[in-house]
Amino acid sequence: MAGGMIFLLGLVWGSFSNVCIYRLPRDESLWWPSSHCPACGAPIPWWGNIPLLSYVLLGGRCRGCRARISLRYPLVELLSGVLFLGVYLRCGWHWSTAAYLVFVALLVPVIFIDLEHQIIPDRFSLGGIGLGFLAAFAGLLPLSWSDSLAGALAGGGSLWLIAEGYYRFTGREGMGGGDVKLLAMIGAFLGWQSLLPVVLVSSAVGAVAGLALMAVGGRGRHYAIPFGPFLAFAALLYLYWGRELVRAYLGWIGAGG
Ligand SMILES: [Zn+2]
Repeated sequence: MAGGMIFLLGLVWGSFSNVCIYRLPRDESLWWPSSHCPACGAPIPWWGNIPLLSYVLLGGRCRGCRARISLRYPLVELLSGVLFLGVYLRCGWHWSTAAYLVFVALLVPVIFIDLEHQIIPDRFSLGGIGLGFLAAFAGLLPLSWSDSLAGALAGGGSLWLIAEGYYRFTGREGMGGGDVKLLAMIGAFLGWQSLLPVVLVSSAVGAVAGLALMAVGGRGRHYAIPFGPFLAFAALLYLYWGRELVRAYLGWIGAGG
C-alpha cells in the first residue's frame, strides 16, 4: 500500500521532471505557460498530463497535430516511479527514505538534461549538495555530518583535480564543471565512503559505452558523451545495492575471507 503510494509519487515527480528536462535548458519558466505540444503549441488538457496513462490513451501522438510524443516522457515517468519505489523497498518507512527520495528526485532530471544538452543545472547539483548535508546534519541519513561534508569536498575536489589535470595535459576539456558538482552532491548524500566505488563503476561503464558507440558509429567520429548519467547510475547502484556489491567485491579479491 505504502509502496504503491510512493510509486505514484514517483510517477508524478517523473511528470514534473519532464517539464524540467524540456524547459530548464531552454530557459523557459517551469510554471508558465501550462503544458503544450512542442510541435503545434496546442495546450494539453488535464487528462493529457496523467503520468504513463496519457501516453497510452493518446497512442503516443498529439491530439491536435498527430505529432509523435517522445518515448522519453513515459520512460522518465516510469523510471522515476521505479526509483522511488526502490528507495522505499530499501529503507522502508524511515527518515532516510525521505532524504533518499530527494536525492533520487534530483538525479532523474539531471540524467536526462545531461544526456540531451551536456549540462547539469546548478540548481540541482548545488542545491543537492546543500540538501544532502542538511539531511545528514539533521540525522535523517545513516551518515554523520562530517562524513557528508567530507564526501562533498572529496567528491568535488577529486573530480576537479582530474578535470584540471586532463585540461592542462591535453588542452581539451574532458569533463565539465557540472560533473564535479554532481559528484560533490553524491558525496554529500552517500558519504565519502561511496566515492571510490561510484567513480570506479561510472568510469568502467562509461568506457564500455564509449567503446560501444565508437564501434557502432565508426572510429573517426568524436562523440561527446556526458559523464553525469554514468555517475548517477553508479550512485543509484550504490544506494540500492552498495553494501552487497562492496562485500561481494571484497570476497572476490579475497580480502573478505
Ligand atoms: Zn501537436
